[in-house]
Amino acid sequence: MPSAEIITIGTELLLGEIQDTNTRYIARFLRNEGIDLFRTTMIGDNENRITSTVMESLSRSNIVITTGGLGPTVDDPTRNAIARAIGTELEFQPELWEQIKQRFERFGRIPTENNKKQAYIPMGATAIENAVGTAPAFYCRIENGLIISLPGVPKELEYLLENQVKGILRTLFNNKYVIQTYVIHTSGIGESVIDEKIADLETLSNPTVGIVAYPGQTDIRITAKAINKTKAAKMISNVMDSITQRLGGFIFGFNEDTLDEVLAKLLLNLNIKVCLIENGTDQLITQLLQKYNILISDPTNYNLEIADNLEKKLENLYKQINPNILLVTKLSKTNEKSAMLSINYFRLNQRINKSFQFGGHDNLALTWATNTIMHFLRSQLT
Ligand code: ATP
Ligand code: MG
Repeated sequence: MPSAEIITIGTELLLGEIQDTNTRYIARFLRNEGIDLFRTTMIGDNENRITSTVMESLSRSNIVITTGGLGPTVDDPTRNAIARAIGTELEFQPELWEQIKQRFERFGRIPTENNKKQAYIPMGATAIENAVGTAPAFYCRIENGLIISLPGVPKELEYLLENQVKGILRTLFNNKYVIQTYVIHTSGIGESVIDEKIADLETLSNPTVGIVAYPGQTDIRITAKAINKTKAAKMISNVMDSITQRLGGFIFGFNEDTLDEVLAKLLLNLNIKVCLIENGTDQLITQLLQKYNILISDPTNYNLEIADNLEKKLENLYKQINPNILLVTKLSKTNEKSAMLSINYFRLNQRINKSFQFGGHDNLALTWATNTIMHFLRSQLT
């Protein structure tokens, strides 16, 4: 069973100028190919450091994939570093040089002497034809392992993974496994409570179960490795059943589902119209309800500041507009590290008045509050 590591190369990445999107792309690619990813490293354009990083990675894993640093300039040190890491030298490949020249011709350009550098790859390496760019990629087979060096430009990288690397890996490793992932979305229940309820499942080794917390939403990811998709799905569904039993109503969806859409569909199915007075949450819930034509506006445009006689004013408003639900929400940021959300809910004879406290940074309060409102509404309807 092969294991892999990714090394992304580029000083601009370490300076925070460019976001590393290649790692995520390769990680998903490896998952789909059923290859375990053990570690990823980000490193600058420094030949010595790249050399030692590649050596380290090779000592732990069979497959090392690098991105970036393959260009024709002096600060593109990947080729040299890899040759050194595997104890060899760069070798000029006339065929590769021909390919590079032809590609330049096709783009109506003339290669410089510098571009010739790109025709040097480590001795014993095989060039990977790059039909979408000029930086040639290559792979080197070494004892018990494989290094694949790909360009940094995301479009080129993605193209080469799908069109070249996939085939190379499948041929060399004849990997029989697939990795499948399934995500369960919950709201209205905290990470630590979930952790207590599913602690035993979190120690499983296949499938693995992990928790990812967002403000007002917690996801549980189940990942299974098996000989085929059907077997993986079966393994996942066993764990899923167990989680569903334990978390029941807190689960609002799976995989691509979002709380907004789940809530909107629920309201549409029940044919419910909502009058909403939203304070402090950038009218995000208003926009959602508008989009699905669920919102009834207040004809008086009665700008309700949460104030004295609130209950009475709301009662009047509810009678006057006559929606299925009247909802009044207000988010107030109490200080940098906390916020408060109050919700008033009217439906038939039902009156609910609730407040919620948030103890995270105020940047996150908005997401927390909108998720909490949506969860509240959903839990009233299910
Ligand atoms: P080229 O021949 O085009 O120079 P290269 O292999 O030398 O290819 P780099 O010069 O290191 O690649 O990077 C090219 C561009 O690709 C960078 O300017 C950057 O915009 C982007 N890039 C590099 N690495 C990453 C990464 N890990 N994630 C996202 N973008 C990246
Ligand atoms: Mg670079």
